[in-house]
Amino acid sequence: MAQTASYAAMKPKSPLVPYAIKRREPREHDVVIDIKYCGVCHSDIHQARDEWSDYLDESIFPMVPGHEIAGVVKSVGDKVTRFKMGDEVGVGCFVDSCRQCAECKRGLEQYCGVQPVRTYNGRDKDGAPTYGGYSRKIVVDENYVLRMPENLPLDAAAPLLCAGITLYSPLRHWHAGPGRKVAILGLGGLGHMGVKLAHALGAEVTVLSHSSRKQDDALRLGADSFYVTSDPLVFTTKLQGYFDLILNTVSAQIDWNQYLDLLKADGSLVILGIPQRQIPIGAFSLVSRRRSLAGSAIGGIRETQEMLDFCGRHKVVSDVEVIPMQKINEAYERVLKSDVRYRFVIDMASLKSK
Ligand code: NAP
Ligand code: ZN
Ligand code: ZN
Repeated sequence: MAQTASYAAMKPKSPLVPYAIKRREPREHDVVIDIKYCGVCHSDIHQARDEWSDYLDESIFPMVPGHEIAGVVKSVGDKVTRFKMGDEVGVGCFVDSCRQCAECKRGLEQYCGVQPVRTYNGRDKDGAPTYGGYSRKIVVDENYVLRMPENLPLDAAAPLLCAGITLYSPLRHWHAGPGRKVAILGLGGLGHMGVKLAHALGAEVTVLSHSSRKQDDALRLGADSFYVTSDPLVFTTKLQGYFDLILNTVSAQIDWNQYLDLLKADGSLVILGIPQRQIPIGAFSLVSRRRSLAGSAIGGIRETQEMLDFCGRHKVVSDVEVIPMQKINEAYERVLKSDVRYRFVIDMASLKSK
Protein backbone atom coordinates (compact mmCIF):
# COMPACT_ATOMS: atom_id res chain seq x y z
CA MET A 1 0.00 0.00 0.00
CA ALA A 2 1.36 3.40 -0.99
CA GLN A 3 1.32 6.30 1.42
CA THR A 4 -0.26 9.49 0.05
CA ALA A 5 -0.39 13.01 1.44
CA SER A 6 -3.87 14.41 2.02
CA TYR A 7 -5.96 16.82 4.10
CA ALA A 8 -8.58 15.37 6.41
CA ALA A 9 -11.23 16.36 8.91
CA MET A 10 -10.22 14.18 11.86
CA LYS A 11 -13.68 14.47 13.45
CA PRO A 12 -17.00 16.18 12.60
CA LYS A 13 -16.71 19.97 12.29
CA SER A 14 -12.96 20.03 13.00
CA PRO A 15 -10.74 22.01 10.58
CA LEU A 16 -8.96 20.03 7.89
CA VAL A 17 -5.34 19.16 8.68
CA PRO A 18 -2.49 17.30 6.91
CA TYR A 19 -2.97 13.55 7.11
CA ALA A 20 -1.21 10.57 5.51
CA ILE A 21 -3.47 7.93 3.95
CA LYS A 22 -2.76 4.60 2.28
CA ARG A 23 -3.98 3.86 -1.24
CA ARG A 24 -4.47 0.23 -2.27
CA GLU A 25 -1.96 -1.61 -4.45
CA PRO A 26 -3.31 -1.32 -8.00
CA ARG A 27 -5.36 -4.31 -9.14
CA GLU A 28 -5.44 -5.49 -12.76
CA HIS A 29 -8.29 -3.12 -13.76
CA ASP A 30 -7.04 -0.17 -11.69
CA VAL A 31 -5.78 3.20 -12.85
CA VAL A 32 -3.33 5.10 -10.61
CA ILE A 33 -4.00 8.82 -10.95
CA ASP A 34 -1.75 11.74 -10.01
CA ILE A 35 -4.30 14.28 -8.85
CA LYS A 36 -3.62 17.75 -10.26
CA TYR A 37 -6.76 19.61 -9.17
CA CYS A 38 -9.77 18.97 -6.99
CA GLY A 39 -12.89 21.15 -6.81
CA VAL A 40 -14.48 22.12 -3.49
CA CYS A 41 -18.15 21.14 -3.49
CA HIS A 42 -20.60 22.29 -0.83
CA SER A 43 -21.24 18.57 -0.22
CA ASP A 44 -17.65 18.33 1.08
CA ILE A 45 -18.58 20.83 3.78
CA HIS A 46 -21.91 19.15 4.61
CA GLN A 47 -20.12 15.84 5.10
CA ALA A 48 -17.01 17.12 6.90
CA ARG A 49 -19.45 18.76 9.32
CA ASP A 50 -21.56 15.62 9.56
CA GLU A 51 -24.74 17.39 8.43
CA TRP A 52 -26.13 14.39 6.55
CA SER A 53 -26.44 12.02 9.49
CA ASP A 54 -30.20 11.75 8.79
CA TYR A 55 -29.50 10.47 5.24
CA LEU A 56 -26.31 8.39 5.43
CA ASP A 57 -25.81 5.11 7.30
CA GLU A 58 -22.59 6.45 8.77
CA SER A 59 -20.07 9.26 8.43
CA ILE A 60 -16.51 8.03 8.43
CA PHE A 61 -13.74 10.03 10.13
CA PRO A 62 -10.95 10.85 9.52
CA MET A 63 -12.56 12.10 6.28
CA VAL A 64 -10.61 13.19 3.19
CA PRO A 65 -13.22 15.04 1.09
CA GLY A 66 -13.08 15.81 -2.63
CA HIS A 67 -15.05 14.38 -5.56
CA GLU A 68 -14.24 16.76 -8.41
CA ILE A 69 -10.93 15.14 -9.26
CA ALA A 70 -8.86 15.90 -12.35
CA GLY A 71 -5.44 14.39 -12.92
CA VAL A 72 -3.07 12.43 -15.10
CA VAL A 73 -2.69 8.66 -15.32
CA LYS A 74 0.54 7.58 -13.64
CA SER A 75 0.25 3.84 -14.25
CA VAL A 76 -2.34 1.20 -15.16
CA GLY A 77 -3.03 -2.40 -14.14
CA ASP A 78 -2.29 -5.29 -16.55
CA LYS A 79 -5.84 -5.60 -17.85
CA VAL A 80 -6.67 -1.90 -18.27
CA THR A 81 -7.69 -1.20 -21.85
CA ARG A 82 -9.33 2.23 -21.75
CA PHE A 83 -6.49 4.37 -20.38
CA LYS A 84 -2.72 4.66 -20.63
CA MET A 85 0.03 6.54 -18.83
CA GLY A 86 -0.19 10.31 -19.42
CA ASP A 87 -3.94 10.46 -20.18
CA GLU A 88 -5.87 13.33 -18.58
CA VAL A 89 -8.68 11.79 -16.54
CA GLY A 90 -11.35 12.62 -14.02
CA VAL A 91 -13.12 10.97 -11.10
CA GLY A 92 -16.49 12.11 -9.75
CA CYS A 93 -18.65 11.23 -6.77
CA PHE A 94 -18.44 7.42 -6.86
CA VAL A 95 -15.66 4.92 -7.58
CA ASP A 96 -17.61 1.67 -7.88
CA SER A 97 -21.11 0.18 -7.71
CA CYS A 98 -22.64 -3.32 -7.68
CA ARG A 99 -22.56 -3.47 -11.54
CA GLN A 100 -25.45 -5.94 -11.55
CA CYS A 101 -28.66 -4.25 -10.44
CA ALA A 102 -31.18 -2.81 -12.93
CA GLU A 103 -29.89 0.74 -12.37
CA CYS A 104 -26.23 -0.18 -12.88
CA LYS A 105 -27.17 -2.04 -16.05
CA ARG A 106 -28.96 1.08 -17.34
CA GLY A 107 -25.85 3.18 -16.72
CA LEU A 108 -27.41 4.85 -13.68
CA GLU A 109 -24.70 3.74 -11.27
CA GLN A 110 -25.42 6.76 -9.05
CA TYR A 111 -28.75 5.11 -8.21
CA CYS A 112 -27.24 1.63 -7.68
CA GLY A 113 -29.79 -0.51 -5.81
CA VAL A 114 -27.07 -1.86 -3.52
CA GLN A 115 -25.26 1.48 -3.07
CA PRO A 116 -22.60 3.18 -5.14
CA VAL A 117 -19.21 3.30 -3.46
CA ARG A 118 -18.79 6.98 -2.68
CA THR A 119 -15.42 8.51 -3.60
CA TYR A 120 -15.04 9.48 0.06
CA ASN A 121 -17.06 8.93 3.19
CA GLY A 122 -17.93 5.52 1.78
CA ARG A 123 -16.69 1.96 2.02
CA ASP A 124 -15.02 -0.01 -0.71
CA LYS A 125 -16.34 -3.50 -1.43
CA ASP A 126 -13.75 -4.90 1.01
CA GLY A 127 -15.04 -2.60 3.75
CA ALA A 128 -12.08 -0.20 3.74
CA PRO A 129 -13.01 3.50 4.03
CA THR A 130 -12.66 5.51 0.84
CA TYR A 131 -10.71 8.77 0.76
CA GLY A 132 -11.33 11.56 -1.72
CA GLY A 133 -9.48 14.02 -3.89
CA TYR A 134 -7.87 16.36 -1.35
CA SER A 135 -4.80 14.19 -1.85
CA ARG A 136 -1.92 13.57 -4.27
CA LYS A 137 -2.95 10.19 -5.66
CA ILE A 138 -5.98 7.97 -6.06
CA VAL A 139 -6.45 4.40 -7.33
CA VAL A 140 -9.73 3.76 -9.21
CA ASP A 141 -11.17 0.95 -11.34
CA GLU A 142 -11.03 1.98 -15.01
CA ASN A 143 -14.81 1.58 -15.38
CA TYR A 144 -15.34 4.51 -13.02
CA VAL A 145 -12.73 6.84 -14.56
CA LEU A 146 -13.67 9.57 -17.07
CA ARG A 147 -11.71 10.99 -19.97
CA MET A 148 -11.20 14.77 -19.77
CA PRO A 149 -11.68 16.81 -22.98
CA GLU A 150 -8.27 17.66 -24.45
CA ASN A 151 -9.15 21.28 -25.20
CA LEU A 152 -10.22 22.23 -21.65
CA PRO A 153 -7.85 23.33 -18.86
CA LEU A 154 -7.81 20.72 -16.08
CA ASP A 155 -8.31 23.20 -13.23
CA ALA A 156 -11.47 24.77 -14.68
CA ALA A 157 -12.77 21.40 -15.90
CA ALA A 158 -12.44 19.65 -12.50
CA PRO A 159 -15.82 20.97 -11.20
CA LEU A 160 -17.59 19.37 -14.16
CA LEU A 161 -17.17 16.03 -12.35
CA CYS A 162 -19.81 16.98 -9.77
CA ALA A 163 -21.28 20.45 -10.33
CA GLY A 164 -21.34 19.95 -14.11
CA ILE A 165 -23.00 16.55 -14.22
CA THR A 166 -25.42 17.37 -11.39
CA LEU A 167 -26.96 20.06 -13.59
CA TYR A 168 -26.47 18.43 -16.99
CA SER A 169 -28.36 15.27 -16.03
CA PRO A 170 -31.66 16.93 -14.99
CA LEU A 171 -31.42 19.45 -17.84
CA ARG A 172 -31.32 16.52 -20.27
CA HIS A 173 -33.85 14.39 -18.42
CA TRP A 174 -36.43 17.21 -18.33
CA HIS A 175 -35.69 18.23 -21.94
CA ALA A 176 -34.13 21.67 -21.50
CA GLY A 177 -33.62 23.13 -24.97
CA PRO A 178 -34.99 25.67 -27.44
CA GLY A 179 -38.45 26.92 -26.47
CA ARG A 180 -38.17 25.76 -22.84
CA LYS A 181 -38.05 28.15 -19.91
CA VAL A 182 -35.59 27.05 -17.23
CA ALA A 183 -34.92 28.68 -13.86
CA ILE A 184 -31.76 28.10 -11.87
CA LEU A 185 -32.33 28.79 -8.18
CA GLY A 186 -29.06 29.76 -6.43
CA LEU A 187 -26.02 30.97 -8.34
CA GLY A 188 -23.24 29.04 -6.63
CA GLY A 189 -20.95 26.24 -7.80
CA LEU A 190 -23.83 24.12 -9.10
CA GLY A 191 -25.99 27.04 -10.21
CA HIS A 192 -23.40 28.73 -12.39
CA MET A 193 -22.80 25.46 -14.24
CA GLY A 194 -26.58 25.17 -14.68
CA VAL A 195 -26.68 28.59 -16.34
CA LYS A 196 -23.83 27.77 -18.72
CA LEU A 197 -25.18 24.33 -19.62
CA ALA A 198 -28.84 25.35 -20.02
CA HIS A 199 -27.72 28.23 -22.23
CA ALA A 200 -25.51 25.91 -24.32
CA LEU A 201 -28.51 23.56 -24.71
CA GLY A 202 -30.54 26.47 -26.13
CA ALA A 203 -33.05 27.00 -23.30
CA GLU A 204 -34.25 30.39 -22.03
CA VAL A 205 -32.45 30.73 -18.69
CA THR A 206 -33.52 32.75 -15.63
CA VAL A 207 -31.45 33.04 -12.45
CA LEU A 208 -33.29 33.33 -9.13
CA SER A 209 -30.88 34.59 -6.49
CA HIS A 210 -31.25 35.67 -2.87
CA SER A 211 -29.45 38.99 -3.42
CA SER A 212 -28.79 41.37 -6.30
CA ARG A 213 -25.00 40.99 -6.02
CA LYS A 214 -24.65 38.40 -8.79
CA GLN A 215 -26.85 40.01 -11.45
CA ASP A 216 -24.03 41.07 -13.80
CA ASP A 217 -22.33 37.70 -13.44
CA ALA A 218 -25.55 35.82 -14.20
CA LEU A 219 -26.03 37.68 -17.47
CA ARG A 220 -22.35 37.25 -18.39
CA LEU A 221 -22.59 33.49 -17.72
CA GLY A 222 -25.46 33.19 -20.22
CA ALA A 223 -28.68 33.93 -18.32
CA ASP A 224 -31.44 35.75 -20.20
CA SER A 225 -32.86 37.29 -17.03
CA PHE A 226 -32.23 37.63 -13.32
CA TYR A 227 -34.59 38.07 -10.35
CA VAL A 228 -33.98 38.63 -6.66
CA THR A 229 -36.13 36.26 -4.61
CA SER A 230 -36.61 38.77 -1.79
CA ASP A 231 -38.86 40.76 -4.19
CA PRO A 232 -42.39 39.54 -3.35
CA LEU A 233 -43.64 40.56 -6.81
CA VAL A 234 -41.56 37.71 -8.29
CA PHE A 235 -44.00 35.28 -6.71
CA THR A 236 -47.27 37.16 -6.93
CA THR A 237 -47.14 38.56 -10.45
CA LYS A 238 -43.84 38.60 -12.33
CA LEU A 239 -43.07 34.90 -12.73
CA GLN A 240 -46.17 33.03 -11.60
CA GLY A 241 -46.82 30.00 -13.83
CA TYR A 242 -43.85 30.88 -16.04
CA PHE A 243 -41.33 28.01 -16.00
CA ASP A 244 -41.19 24.54 -17.51
CA LEU A 245 -38.36 23.56 -15.18
CA ILE A 246 -36.84 24.93 -11.99
CA LEU A 247 -33.57 23.42 -10.74
CA ASN A 248 -33.09 24.20 -7.06
CA THR A 249 -29.43 24.19 -6.00
CA VAL A 250 -30.04 25.87 -2.63
CA SER A 251 -29.73 23.91 0.61
CA ALA A 252 -30.87 26.81 2.81
CA GLN A 253 -34.52 26.88 3.87
CA ILE A 254 -36.94 28.26 1.27
CA ASP A 255 -40.71 28.33 0.84
CA TRP A 256 -41.11 25.41 -1.57
CA ASN A 257 -44.76 26.09 -2.32
CA GLN A 258 -43.95 29.58 -3.58
CA TYR A 259 -41.50 28.11 -6.07
CA LEU A 260 -43.94 25.40 -7.21
CA ASP A 261 -46.32 28.21 -8.11
CA LEU A 262 -43.76 29.57 -10.58
CA LEU A 263 -44.25 26.45 -12.71
CA LYS A 264 -46.63 26.14 -15.65
CA ALA A 265 -48.97 23.19 -15.87
CA ASP A 266 -46.86 20.01 -16.17
CA GLY A 267 -43.75 21.88 -15.02
CA SER A 268 -41.18 20.29 -12.70
CA LEU A 269 -39.26 21.55 -9.70
CA VAL A 270 -36.16 19.45 -9.19
CA ILE A 271 -34.33 19.21 -5.86
CA LEU A 272 -30.55 19.27 -6.20
CA GLY A 273 -29.40 21.15 -3.09
CA ILE A 274 -29.81 19.06 0.01
CA PRO A 275 -31.41 20.75 3.04
CA GLN A 276 -30.57 19.29 6.41
CA ARG A 277 -34.22 19.03 7.41
CA GLN A 278 -37.40 17.67 5.83
CA ILE A 279 -39.32 20.04 3.58
CA PRO A 280 -43.01 21.02 3.94
CA ILE A 281 -45.05 20.81 0.74
CA GLY A 282 -48.68 21.80 0.22
CA ALA A 283 -50.47 19.33 -2.06
CA PHE A 284 -52.50 22.04 -3.78
CA SER A 285 -49.46 23.62 -5.49
CA LEU A 286 -48.86 20.28 -7.24
CA VAL A 287 -52.41 19.11 -7.82
CA SER A 288 -53.77 22.35 -9.24
CA ARG A 289 -51.59 22.20 -12.35
CA ARG A 290 -50.28 18.63 -12.56
CA ARG A 291 -46.87 19.86 -11.46
CA SER A 292 -44.07 17.55 -10.35
CA LEU A 293 -41.60 17.76 -7.52
CA ALA A 294 -38.59 15.58 -8.24
CA GLY A 295 -34.99 15.04 -7.20
CA SER A 296 -31.82 14.21 -9.06
CA ALA A 297 -28.34 13.11 -8.06
CA ILE A 298 -25.18 13.61 -10.16
CA GLY A 299 -25.19 11.27 -13.20
CA GLY A 300 -24.01 7.83 -14.33
CA ILE A 301 -20.62 7.16 -15.91
CA ARG A 302 -21.95 7.14 -19.47
CA GLU A 303 -23.82 10.41 -19.05
CA THR A 304 -20.88 12.02 -17.25
CA GLN A 305 -18.67 11.21 -20.24
CA GLU A 306 -21.37 12.59 -22.55
CA MET A 307 -21.42 15.81 -20.47
CA LEU A 308 -17.61 16.13 -20.60
CA ASP A 309 -17.63 15.69 -24.38
CA PHE A 310 -20.48 18.23 -24.66
CA CYS A 311 -18.45 20.71 -22.56
CA GLY A 312 -15.41 20.09 -24.79
CA ARG A 313 -17.46 20.87 -27.93
CA HIS A 314 -19.11 23.94 -26.41
CA LYS A 315 -16.02 25.07 -24.44
CA VAL A 316 -17.94 25.06 -21.18
CA VAL A 317 -15.85 25.13 -17.99
CA SER A 318 -16.34 26.37 -14.46
CA ASP A 319 -15.36 29.87 -13.28
CA VAL A 320 -12.74 28.92 -10.71
CA GLU A 321 -10.60 30.42 -7.98
CA VAL A 322 -7.53 28.19 -7.65
CA ILE A 323 -6.21 27.90 -4.08
CA PRO A 324 -3.39 26.03 -2.36
CA MET A 325 -4.42 23.12 -0.13
CA GLN A 326 -3.43 25.10 2.97
CA LYS A 327 -6.28 27.61 2.34
CA ILE A 328 -9.04 25.01 2.49
CA ASN A 329 -10.51 25.99 5.87
CA GLU A 330 -10.73 29.63 4.80
CA ALA A 331 -12.33 28.49 1.52
CA TYR A 332 -15.03 26.55 3.42
CA GLU A 333 -15.93 29.68 5.39
CA ARG A 334 -16.18 31.69 2.19
CA VAL A 335 -18.42 29.07 0.51
CA LEU A 336 -20.74 29.27 3.53
CA LYS A 337 -20.98 33.04 3.02
CA SER A 338 -21.68 32.62 -0.75
CA ASP A 339 -18.38 34.43 -1.29
CA VAL A 340 -16.92 32.41 -4.16
CA ARG A 341 -17.04 33.14 -7.90
CA TYR A 342 -17.93 30.31 -8.51
CA ARG A 343 -15.92 27.28 -7.47
CA PHE A 344 -12.76 26.86 -5.43
CA VAL A 345 -10.33 24.41 -6.97
CA ILE A 346 -7.33 23.12 -5.03
CA ASP A 347 -3.98 22.99 -6.80
CA MET A 348 -2.53 19.70 -5.54
CA ALA A 349 1.02 20.79 -6.35
CA SER A 350 0.72 22.77 -3.10
CA LEU A 351 0.50 19.53 -1.11
CA LYS A 352 3.84 17.88 -0.35
CA SER A 353 3.95 14.39 -1.83
CA LYS A 354 4.61 12.51 1.41
P1 NAP B 1 -22.72 26.74 -3.17
O1 NAP B 1 -21.63 27.03 -4.13
O2 NAP B 1 -22.56 27.13 -1.74
O3 NAP B 1 -24.07 27.41 -3.76
C1 NAP B 1 -25.27 27.44 -3.07
C2 NAP B 1 -26.03 28.72 -3.44
O4 NAP B 1 -27.22 28.77 -2.64
C3 NAP B 1 -25.33 30.02 -3.11
O5 NAP B 1 -24.39 30.44 -4.04
C4 NAP B 1 -26.49 30.99 -3.02
O6 NAP B 1 -26.85 31.48 -4.30
C5 NAP B 1 -27.60 30.11 -2.49
N1 NAP B 1 -27.79 30.41 -1.05
C6 NAP B 1 -26.89 30.36 -0.08
N2 NAP B 1 -27.43 30.73 1.08
C7 NAP B 1 -28.69 31.01 0.84
C8 NAP B 1 -29.75 31.46 1.65
N3 NAP B 1 -29.59 31.69 2.96
N4 NAP B 1 -30.93 31.61 1.07
C9 NAP B 1 -31.09 31.36 -0.23
N5 NAP B 1 -30.10 30.95 -1.05
C10 NAP B 1 -28.91 30.78 -0.52
O7 NAP B 1 -23.04 25.21 -3.12
P2 NAP B 1 -22.98 24.08 -4.30
O8 NAP B 1 -21.64 23.42 -4.26
O9 NAP B 1 -23.48 24.69 -5.53
O10 NAP B 1 -24.00 23.01 -3.72
C11 NAP B 1 -25.36 23.36 -3.50
C12 NAP B 1 -26.11 22.22 -2.84
O11 NAP B 1 -26.20 21.12 -3.75
C13 NAP B 1 -25.45 21.64 -1.59
O12 NAP B 1 -26.47 21.30 -0.67
C14 NAP B 1 -24.78 20.37 -2.09
O13 NAP B 1 -24.60 19.41 -1.07
C15 NAP B 1 -25.80 19.92 -3.09
N6 NAP B 1 -25.28 19.00 -4.13
C16 NAP B 1 -26.16 18.10 -4.63
C17 NAP B 1 -25.77 17.24 -5.63
C18 NAP B 1 -26.73 16.27 -6.22
O14 NAP B 1 -26.29 15.30 -6.86
N7 NAP B 1 -28.02 16.47 -6.07
C19 NAP B 1 -24.45 17.30 -6.13
C20 NAP B 1 -23.59 18.26 -5.61
C21 NAP B 1 -24.02 19.12 -4.60
P3 NAP B 1 -27.42 32.96 -4.47
O15 NAP B 1 -26.42 33.87 -3.83
O16 NAP B 1 -27.52 33.12 -5.95
O17 NAP B 1 -28.75 33.00 -3.79
ZN1 ZN C 1 -20.33 17.52 -5.18
ZN1 ZN D 1 -25.99 -1.52 -8.79
